[in-house]
Amino acid sequence: MLNVDLHSHSNFSDGTLTPETLVARAAQRGVAVLALTDHDHTGGLAAARAAAAGHGIRLIDGVEISVTWCGQTIHIVGLGIDPADAALQAGLAATRGGRIKRARKMAAALAALGIADSFEGAQQFADNPQLIGRTHFARFLVQRGAVKDIKSAFKRFLGGGQPCYVPHQWASLGDAVSWINSSGGVAVIAHPGRYPLDTAQLRALLSEFRELGGAAIEVVSSSHQPHQHATFAAHAREFGLAASAGSDFHSPQESYHDLGSLPELPHGCTPVWEKFQ
Ligand code: AMP
Ligand code: MN
Ligand code: MN
Ligand code: MN
Repeated sequence: MLNVDLHSHSNFSDGTLTPETLVARAAQRGVAVLALTDHDHTGGLAAARAAAAGHGIRLIDGVEISVTWCGQTIHIVGLGIDPADAALQAGLAATRGGRIKRARKMAAALAALGIADSFEGAQQFADNPQLIGRTHFARFLVQRGAVKDIKSAFKRFLGGGQPCYVPHQWASLGDAVSWINSSGGVAVIAHPGRYPLDTAQLRALLSEFRELGGAAIEVVSSSHQPHQHATFAAHAREFGLAASAGSDFHSPQESYHDLGSLPELPHGCTPVWEKFQ
């Protein structure tokens, strides 16, 4: 079976490894086809591509775009995009543009709870200052001793509905899909099992995504429980979408799923990577 991992992060967003180290780890763990999919940024792709050539593995140019759909944050992965595409780059720049202001608001909310200087603290973990996000705050909260681990930082402070969650307007679903498609990529709904949507809302998302030109959903994801693989395989078939698989790897210390250790797609799925062969 081809070892494919189409969702991973470097320190160009909220991963901890450089693109080179990430690719080396993927190669060492037997990955044959890897997509680097940093949040709202493609700056790591050139270095990842060079490293992949050195290790004899295939790199798919990717990105994970933050989207607001019906008031919910949804992540759309673009695979096989052209990072030189001007419309895509303008869209990504606009999408990440509000992150610093949002981070200041998170820091103010944390300060109100007695946790001072978190903007500067989170910045120390953000190798790419434009991409400062909740994971960097979570790392700071662990370092400060406010929580025992990253997961607890989201549960107590940073996750949806928690006291330091700052609502944010990201890109629209239609814009994200069109930036990806017009740059020659395919659009994939990331970790569909992670959103707090009921069945009717999930079906509406899949149907609208398909109408807008979306191509696939992540059926196999580290965010999914094993039983959800069959559920999302059935959704993919029903909505005429291909299936993707990704570890969403961020860090050797923090990720539950390492690179290249994903189960196979359930039978009857159309693998999205067939589009790249
Ligand atoms: P942001 O784009 O700043 O809202 O940050 C989103 C990122 O936070 C995701 O890509 C994950 O890396 C991380 N994240 C979100 N929820 C959790 C969670 N419950 N546990 C650990 N990491 C999370
Ligand atoms: Mn992330
Ligand atoms: Mn995501
Ligand atoms: Mn991700």
